[in-house]
Amino acid sequence: MLQSKEFQVDDLVYVPCEGKAPFLRGRVQALREDEVLVVQTEHATITAASTELRRCFDGDVCQDNTSLVYLNDATILQNLKARHQADDIYTYTASVLLAVNPYHDIEGLYGPEQCARYRGKHIGALPPHPYAIADAAYRALVREHRNQGFIISGESGAGKTETAKIVMQYLGYVSGSSNNITAQIQQRILQAQPILESFGNAVTMRNNNSSRFGKYKRFFFDETGTLMDAGVTTYLLESSRVVMHSSSERTYHCFYEMLSGLPKEKLLRWHLEPTKRKRHLLLASDAEDTDEKWHGEFQERDAKNFRRLCDALAVVGFSQDDMDSTFQVLAGLVHLGDLSLAERDEGDETSTVQLDEEILAKAAGLLGMDATELAGALRRRKVRVTHPGRESLHEVPRTTAQFRHALHSLIKALYKRLFERLVFRINGSFQELQAARGHCEEELREIGILDIYGFERLQRNSFEQLCINLANERLQQYFVENVLVAEEALYRREGLPWYGLQLPDSTPVVSAISQTFRILDECSQQLAKGFEKTDESFCQKTVDEAQKDPERRELLRAPRTSKKRPTLMNEGFVVKHYAGQVEYSTKGWLDKNNDRLLPECEELICDSTFELVASLKDDDQGKAPFRSISKKYCTDLEHLLQTLSTCQLHYIRCFKPNDFQQAAVFDEQLVLDQIVQCGTVELVKIMHDGYPNRCRFQEMLRFRDLLPESFQRYGTRTFIEALLLAYNVPKEDWALGTSRLFLRAGQLKALEDLRSAGA
Ligand code: ADP
Ligand code: MG
Repeated sequence: MLQSKEFQVDDLVYVPCEGKAPFLRGRVQALREDEVLVVQTEHATITAASTELRRCFDGDVCQDNTSLVYLNDATILQNLKARHQADDIYTYTASVLLAVNPYHDIEGLYGPEQCARYRGKHIGALPPHPYAIADAAYRALVREHRNQGFIISGESGAGKTETAKIVMQYLGYVSGSSNNITAQIQQRILQAQPILESFGNAVTMRNNNSSRFGKYKRFFFDETGTLMDAGVTTYLLESSRVVMHSSSERTYHCFYEMLSGLPKEKLLRWHLEPTKRKRHLLLASDAEDTDEKWHGEFQERDAKNFRRLCDALAVVGFSQDDMDSTFQVLAGLVHLGDLSLAERDEGDETSTVQLDEEILAKAAGLLGMDATELAGALRRRKVRVTHPGRESLHEVPRTTAQFRHALHSLIKALYKRLFERLVFRINGSFQELQAARGHCEEELREIGILDIYGFERLQRNSFEQLCINLANERLQQYFVENVLVAEEALYRREGLPWYGLQLPDSTPVVSAISQTFRILDECSQQLAKGFEKTDESFCQKTVDEAQKDPERRELLRAPRTSKKRPTLMNEGFVVKHYAGQVEYSTKGWLDKNNDRLLPECEELICDSTFELVASLKDDDQGKAPFRSISKKYCTDLEHLLQTLSTCQLHYIRCFKPNDFQQAAVFDEQLVLDQIVQCGTVELVKIMHDGYPNRCRFQEMLRFRDLLPESFQRYGTRTFIEALLLAYNVPKEDWALGTSRLFLRAGQLKALEDLRSAGA
């Protein structure tokens, strides 16, 4: 009879398949030559190479994936699925918490009673929960005075922001509010959330409350674990959303909230009364022109959230005047947006764009700008011409496209700076309390929570995705290193010898991305200086340089063309990330990478007679026409990583079970992709070199019938040793820790087989 190296007839396996589900379950029916197996599934007979099969164990559901009899992508997926169906949305994989978004409220899962239940318990003593991790982190902070960090990742809609709130809820619960100032800090932390959500979240296809920026929240504690201070850092607000969004999405919540919530006299004062005309910022370009569409199904929520926003602004110290100023700027932006319909007679080189005078006047009035100057800056650009010995300034009309670009840049810049101002004021409100408390001598310890986009691979990937994926490459490296450190600590604690494991290395791909940004900066810089530079020349240079370098050649290359996809020369490149290949389109990158506003528009802001607008001017006095966004982002990222390097890290990986925001629907392929992208499979592979299965001693008592009853008298530890010896499990395949049995891959299954044979 033929023999497969690993499989035997009758083994239960998962076979990868092309259909709706990524794997089918079946039994090995026959072994053919060359490690090809015949598998009988429920409906079909399939042949597959043995390397493609995953072992499977019937009915295996565990709260920690490392207790699964077989540990592979298919069994993890099935475990998550079974648990999700039972509303057990949390599952550990060693020290990592996996969370599957339930898309409905699970009764009794959160709240003070549950917080009390998890307080002071060891991880694993109760069902997996963010409270359990938060408790471990808080205790480590107080006892060991070590900084703690939570890294919460996942795709849009996976539940990151909600999970971050759940962690904060627990920290609020344990850190007490014994004194007045601590209570006030807690109050402000709580109220910062709706402000950030109104101005930084939007309805998207994937999430009705999607955060369009990354954030790192920090909470500072004194030696006794009392909350003393807090702060938030934000990353990469998607400012293009202010001027553009697709038809089933919306721009930032604050616009709609303002329109539904403002009292009538203010709507009138800011010319926001309902109209039959289309408001460009609020409606997608291809949407119907009706007012009701502003809100869609969200009108009631918008009105309610407007009150929530105002209350929150008041808590962080906004006066009524401050609030009015903020909303007035938003109103001004709405009117500016309505100028974008303007056209010019493109046949006539000297004509300028025709603007609607009434809208122009409203926008200019609300933003404290002079209407003529506003129109001038949008319609004409100043060109410096050098003659021998002197320079002169000329004005050249902008084409319609250039006009729209100028207008949109102005709107985006004002919105982005307004958002940054809000973040600044939120942070200032914590500092104010600090000052009220008086000087604080002792060194504070902190707990940080990072809520940031996970790895992204969209239909079309651009500059923003490369930035996000760079962060994920760096964080993944941290992840692997940290989890290994945690593994090592576990082995130590259990008294087992530790031997190093092979680590994947992200340095080459990180360096390939850094080179890309360096070339992008060079090109953006030259473009800003007036040299001929295009997105295409940037793309070409990037690919060419990578191809010349043997280290990077494999990691960054031109996209392959196929019959279906005609050649797109120099419009993009492909990067090989740890989570798979991503194709980026480089259209518009030179512009996206420049943080400088056109000088004509910057002047408008500087000269505004409206205090809030004027205060949003670019503080950097340098006159350089280019300031790199990617460089700022990379610097911010390095700072973040530096902060994280002082922390003991805790990982929560969030999963989106389906694309429809629906409860009780589990799309296996979708979740499997996320299991791969969050690095869980990579982690499992690394652990495979050690002892991937761990069972608490108590759990091993399920094998009690395999030994005569008399053995049970000797305590679990002795019982387990006797069991392993009696059944000839090779000594190098197991190790006894102080509370857990560690097993090499395959041995737990052997024991289970004995048990079922005996039964
Ligand atoms: P992300 O920040 O990852 O984009 P969110 O945290 O905003 O996703 O979650 C999206 C939506 O999913 C939330 O608005 C909520 O309706 C639902 N959700 C997320 N986590 C939970 C949870 N633990 N319980 C119930 N619903 C949740
Ligand atoms: Mg979010």
